[in-house]
Amino acid sequence: MFLSVKEMEIRKVRFDETVPPGKIDYSRADVRQISPLVAVGSAVMVENAEGEVHITGKFKVDLEADCDRCLGRASFPIESAFDLFYMPAPSAKPEHHHRSPREEEIELDEGESEVGFYEGSGLELNDVLLEQILLALPMQRICKEDCLGICPVCGRNRNETSCSCREKPADDRWKALRDLK
Ligand SMILES: [Zn+2]
Ligand SMILES: [Zn+2]
Repeated sequence: MFLSVKEMEIRKVRFDETVPPGKIDYSRADVRQISPLVAVGSAVMVENAEGEVHITGKFKVDLEADCDRCLGRASFPIESAFDLFYMPAPSAKPEHHHRSPREEEIELDEGESEVGFYEGSGLELNDVLLEQILLALPMQRICKEDCLGICPVCGRNRNETSCSCREKPADDRWKALRDLK
């Protein structure tokens, strides 16, 4: 959905969107969308602020990635709210390439309130949502809290098969130290 500034000049623009998987490109973050993305909110012009736009809302989506430890499937639901301000991009800039809102964002105070820029006649809601989803991604993507990962010695997935490998390199180093004495 396109959030048109012209429309915001007349009224509050509300959105209640359901974006199916495949519409947003998550390749930057190596995640896959596995449920519809549901987003509800509104966009308004900030009074007396020369084109500044205020977008608030919340969203919910299930994502999937490769587990950091075992490369199996790690799925995680994300639910978050946002409260964002966008200013018109300075018009002197050449418009030869499209910028997503986030790329020109300036962080004001500790990420609490951020101001981004938009070009032309408004913002694509999906771009705004993608930035918010990327910000909400967990640092660690694991299939389960106690994922055992892959054995560094034999390469087996230790969640599926237990192996009796010992991590010898560490032992050898201690032995070498002991031998020095
Ligand atoms: Zn795992
Ligand atoms: Zn092993």
